[in-house]
Amino acid sequence: MVDLKTQYLNMKEEIDQAILEVVESCAFINGPKVKEFQTNLEKYLGVNHVIPCANGTDALQIALMALDLKPDDEIIVPAFTYVATAEVIALLKLKPIMVDVRPDTFDITAEIIEKAITPNTKVIVPVHLFGQCCDMEGIMAVAKAHNLFVIEDNAQAIGADYTFKDGSTKKAGTIGDIGTTSFYPAKNLGAYGDGGAIFTNDEELGNKIRMIANHGQNRRYYHSMIGCNSRLDSIQAAVLNIKLKYLDNYAKRRNQVANFYDEALMGLSEIEIPKRNPNSNHVFHQYTLMVRNDKRDALKEYLSDRGIPTMIYYPVPLNKQKAFRQFVDENLEMPVTEMLCDSVLSLPIHTEMNEELLRFISNSVKSFFE
Ligand SMILES: *Cc1c(COP(=O)(O)O)cnc(C)c1O
Repeated sequence: MVDLKTQYLNMKEEIDQAILEVVESCAFINGPKVKEFQTNLEKYLGVNHVIPCANGTDALQIALMALDLKPDDEIIVPAFTYVATAEVIALLKLKPIMVDVRPDTFDITAEIIEKAITPNTKVIVPVHLFGQCCDMEGIMAVAKAHNLFVIEDNAQAIGADYTFKDGSTKKAGTIGDIGTTSFYPAKNLGAYGDGGAIFTNDEELGNKIRMIANHGQNRRYYHSMIGCNSRLDSIQAAVLNIKLKYLDNYAKRRNQVANFYDEALMGLSEIEIPKRNPNSNHVFHQYTLMVRNDKRDALKEYLSDRGIPTMIYYPVPLNKQKAFRQFVDENLEMPVTEMLCDSVLSLPIHTEMNEELLRFISNSVKSFFE
């Protein structure tokens, strides 16, 4: 699904040098590379505070911990997402309220959220799934009207721009009160191990988040709140400093791949190519087809037989996961999410694909339907 080896070989000298610098400095934790990455990412995103941390799941957890929530406060999340989005909510003894998504862009919308709001609702967690933004302007308006916090789960859309009605733009993850991301190696901005970050423009929240990620202290051995230990290590920061320079280029490459697939597959009546949200550009973390008529699993197997890996993100709605049973009303229906879990298929997409490979994959998809 990704080719991290070729990507590494294309910048081997730079990466090796940066890692060697960290090893020779022995500043493995909170070294200058981490500060440098924090500053570079703040500049890139146009956000006041970036707090690096250990992974994208921690980023979500720390964001929630900063909001002074009480047990049973309700947090609205899409049922069609990676488990981390809802897992941290349950872990903090808060209540995940799962909602259905749009069938075309796979995202939650203001209208869907509004129906799930109760007097206990405190936070909305939109997920910018597969690489493009949810309709943030509408979501922010609902949040404002009901006095709710917004945490953007931006693990899949770092670098995407959202365009507001007045024509202004903001980077994904910098629109809500807090944004979170992951530097898991296969993400668009991937480290060589685990990593994550939290973004906010609010200074008070920024300071609090920095303290929570560091055992609740801002002065060593003086702990004013319960925190956790979540750090980005210096070697990962060194790698990310280099890859951040190429992030926009990576998005361009991914869009070229997506456009190639689009053109090749557009005419097939039994699949739906990914729909673009007109208010967001797409950084194509995933290129996800919808396959009609129950043919998804057969297509997956057909491609696999030809040596083409594909993935199902995600095969089971969160509300159908055993771990979340206690949070879900038995009669809860998620028709769109269920339909998507049965029909989505993600094709390989990454920064190192050549035309020969793309033609082989598209032709294989086409020949399945012929
Ligand atoms: C990857 C991912 C996460 C979690 O990131 P980790 O770094 O693996 O903890 C959270 N949410 C979404 C939507 C993701 O894709």
